[in-house]
This record gives sequence, C-alpha cells and structure tokens, in this order.
Amino acid sequence: MHTTDATTHTDVLIAGAGPTGLVLAVDLARRGIRHRLVDSADRGFPGSRGAGLQPRSLEVFEDLGVLGAMRAAGGPCPPLMVWDGDRQVGEWDMFDRAEPTPAVPYAEIMMLPQWRTVEILAARLEELGGHVDFETGLTGFEQDADGVTATLTRSDGTTETVRARYLVGADGGRSAVRHALGVGFTAEPVDERAALLADVVVDGLERTHWHVWPDAPGGRLALRPLEGVETFQLVARHDDPDARIDPERDGTTEALQRLIEEGTGRSDLTVGEVHWVSAFKPRMAMAERFREGRVFLAGDAAHVHSPAGGQGLNTSIQDGYNLGWKLEAVLRRGAPDSLLDTYATERMGVAADVLGLSTRIHHEDDGGRPRRGPETHQLHVGYPDSPLTRELRHDLPEGALRAGDRAPDAPCEDPASGARVRLFEVFQGTHATVLALGDGEPAVPAVPEWARVFRPVDVDGHVKEAYGSGYFVIRPDGYVGLATDDAGDVAAYLATLTG
Ligand SMILES: Cc1cc2nc3c(=O)[nH]c(=O)nc-3n(C[C@H](O)[C@H](O)[C@H](O)COP(=O)(O)OP(=O)(O)OC[C@H]3O[C@@H](n4cnc5c(N)ncnc54)[C@H](O)[C@@H]3O)c2cc1C
Repeated sequence: MHTTDATTHTDVLIAGAGPTGLVLAVDLARRGIRHRLVDSADRGFPGSRGAGLQPRSLEVFEDLGVLGAMRAAGGPCPPLMVWDGDRQVGEWDMFDRAEPTPAVPYAEIMMLPQWRTVEILAARLEELGGHVDFETGLTGFEQDADGVTATLTRSDGTTETVRARYLVGADGGRSAVRHALGVGFTAEPVDERAALLADVVVDGLERTHWHVWPDAPGGRLALRPLEGVETFQLVARHDDPDARIDPERDGTTEALQRLIEEGTGRSDLTVGEVHWVSAFKPRMAMAERFREGRVFLAGDAAHVHSPAGGQGLNTSIQDGYNLGWKLEAVLRRGAPDSLLDTYATERMGVAADVLGLSTRIHHEDDGGRPRRGPETHQLHVGYPDSPLTRELRHDLPEGALRAGDRAPDAPCEDPASGARVRLFEVFQGTHATVLALGDGEPAVPAVPEWARVFRPVDVDGHVKEAYGSGYFVIRPDGYVGLATDDAGDVAAYLATLTG
C-alpha cells in the first residue's frame, strides 16, 4: 500500500458529497474558505431517492445560485391517480395548491430526482473553483485542541494524511465519523415493512400522474414519473413484515415486469432499463450530539427519518447551510468557538421536530390517501430559543415577525439605484443584512464590512406588511437574529458574532 509522505492542510474537511456535504462545500467555496470534499463512492449518487424539495430549500438554493438550474430541470408534484388493478378509482391531490406571495416566493414543493440535485450542486461547486474527490474515503481521524488529523484512503488502496481545523461528517446514515466518535444513534423502526425502490423505464404508462395501487397484491405499489427523464420512481412496499427484499434479485427488468403486471393487472406496460435499485425500511434515529470538539455531524449522519413528508434531504441541506457561515466567522473573523456550539443547539431542535413530523405523516399515510400541509414546507422552522436570537421589542401583536423567524421576502425599491429588488436579492451572498425600516428616514447604524445596511423604499407596503418597523439583523442563513427599535443595539449584536 502506498502512503503519501506529506500531510496536506485544509481548514474544513468534509466527508461525504451527498446533498449535505455539497451544500456546505458550495457555501464555503463562495466564502473563500479552504476546504476539501471527499467521497468514497466513484461518482455522484445515481438514484432519485430524496426528490421532494420544500419551499424553504428552494430559498436556500436561490441564495447558493443553483435555483435557476433546478427549476429548469424540476417540476411540480403531479396529482395522484389511485388504481384498483386496471381500474382508475379517482384522482387525488396530496397538496393544497398555493400561489407565491410577496413574502413566500416558492409556495409549493418542487420535484427533482436526488441525482440531479447532486449533479447541479457539484457543477456549482466547480464553478466556484471547488470539486469532489471521489473514490476517497475517510478511514480514520484523531482530534486535538487545534484540529483534526484524518486518514483518507483511495479505492486503489493509497492513503493520505490531512490536517484540518474542523471535520464535518456528512457521510450518511451509516456515518463512519459518528461511529468513530462513539456518538449514540439509537435507531427505531418506523415501519417493519420493507420497500423496493427503483428508477425504471415503464413504456405505456401515462406521465401525467403519480400512479398508486394501494391494495396491490403483496403490498402498495407506486410509480411516479421523474422530471426531465424517461424513468419512473417505483416504490413497492411489502405488506408482509417478514418479506426480504434483495435488490439484485428483485430489481431486474424481468422481476419488475412481473411485479408491475401483478400489481396493476395491466398487460400493456413494458418495463425497460432499470437505472437504479435499492431497498429500505423506514426508521428514525438522531445522534446524541451533533458536535464533538472539532468534529460536526450533519445530514443523515446526524438524523434519519421516514421518507414520508419529504423532510430528510431538506433538513440535511439546511444543516450544511447553518454551519457554513459560522465556520467562516470563526476561521476568518475570530468569532468565539461558542458560535459553533449554536450549530448543534439550533439543528438538534429542528431535527427532533422533523423526526416527530415525518413519523406522524408516515403513519397517517396508511389510510391510502396521503395529504401534505404547510407544516412540511419548513418555512415555519426557526430558532426562537437560540442563544443567537435577540428579540428586544415589547408588546408585539399576535402573529408579528419575531427574532428567530425565517426572514421573509418582499419586493421593494433600492434607494440608491431606484431599481425594483426583492429582499432575497439583497440578502443573497455571504453577508449579514441590517434592515432599517420605518416611516421617514431611520438612522443607519455603523456595521462591519461583512454586514450590509439596507433601507428599502417600501413602494407597495410589502416590507411593512412582512416586518413592521424597526431594525432587523438578517443572519447570512436568512433568519432574523436581532429585532429592535434602537439602532444602537445593532453594532453590539453583530459584535457577538465576531468576537
Ligand atoms: C426512499 C427514500 C425516499 C426519500 N425521499 C425524500 C424526499 O422526498 N425528500 C427529502 O427531503 N428526503 C428524502 N429522503 C432522504 C434523503 O435521501 C436523505 O436525507 C439525503 O440523501 C441525505 O443527504 P446526506 O448528504 O446527508 O447523505 P447521503 O445522501 O447519504 O450522502 C452521504 C455521502 O457520503 C459518502 N460516504 C459515506 N461514507 C464515507 C466515508 N467514510 N468517507 C467519504 N465519503 C463517505 C457516500 O458515498 C455518500 O455520497 C428519502 C430517502 C429514502 C431512503
């Protein structure tokens, strides 16, 4: 076995280039933070798995500069067609259709196969000068007070030593990083019934609907057309909890042809190429800690949910998005280490809530006519109890925006150029934003170079409707950190994020 002699150095080593690791790498790359993103696989994830992108994730993707590519490739969730054998029983919409509003520009889930999401994020990373080191697995590490010394092993057996200031385990549900840390992860089954999952060409099946056979012999069968390609995502859940699925045996063209014929009673459907196949049993688990010294756990490495409700990938990428700006603040601006602790406190609270939500939805779905409400959109997710949240105003009316909430969008006018802008365009980038809002000309507080003050001209009243008046510090990840009536509070708050 060959071992490279020299130790290479980086600031952030990320193990795992799934959606979580890629979002973190894109965020660090645009911040100019040295990082290394490694993945033991030989290429990006090839399956459609986490295909439902929630409205909050679309906002994150807009900030990261990938939303255009995703919208061009994705599409809305089609209505369900419920079948009994070869007989259509009726159409069913899982979602209340919703229109965008000035505060919520993306009101509905968007469907995009996970492999495409990963591909688009990887392309963005390359555009920013980064890349994924495939066939390079993290196989061991030790940490001390100043950093982490990690061993990387390539598929040809060669090894390399990397010294990093921080390590992020974004290495999925079976996380080697979590195991090495000895962090507990007690998994509980959400459902004893296993399911076969495949991306497969099915000739003859209409692409207008998500086809569901709730009472197919052997167990529920669903086929959903994937966006931009000719494949369908097949999910076949066995009713028998003792049934064992072997993807190699059960995922061949012939086996899937039989499954579909038996399940649908239709002889006019022809199974073609099978692009990807897998099996899963829904379970829920959450790591006992998301941070251990200089090592962080993020995404599925930190929490695993039932796929019901489409929360896993969405929660995972927002872990990466929460961590990126905090790492920059600590590495570049001398922010206190306690800022990194807030990653764990903020994201563990969210993960626990999401685990409860997806488990509840999973069991509700057993009725056969699933419904998804706005609680799955993740727009209500916030950090009201975070140590970073300061709400300094009093007697706020019911329903008013508060510190800790997601910062809403609003169309307005840029006072400098007179151009129409959306607040999300003003927030976009690596900086924090201070919104100075009110009648007349609110004072402009002094801010450090990594924050920007914006005093919009509220031509249509949308800013006032969303925010009211006062001073709002919008964190780089789009949450209201501080809300106050006093411009003098702003500098002190920003100093807590700098040290
Ligand atoms: C059937 C199913 C349907 C789903 N549907 C949805 C949905 O609609 N919406 C949703 O939000 N979520 C959904 N999910 C969940 C979603 O797929 C996951 O939450 C998401 O993939 C997590 O991303 P991740 O980057 O944290 O982990 P992963 O995608 O698992 O990526 C981890 C990466 O780490 C790499 N790796 C592993 N070990 C090492 C190592 N030692 N060194 C280096 N690299 C390593 C792996 O090769 C992999 O590329 C679904 C999941 C399933 C199973």
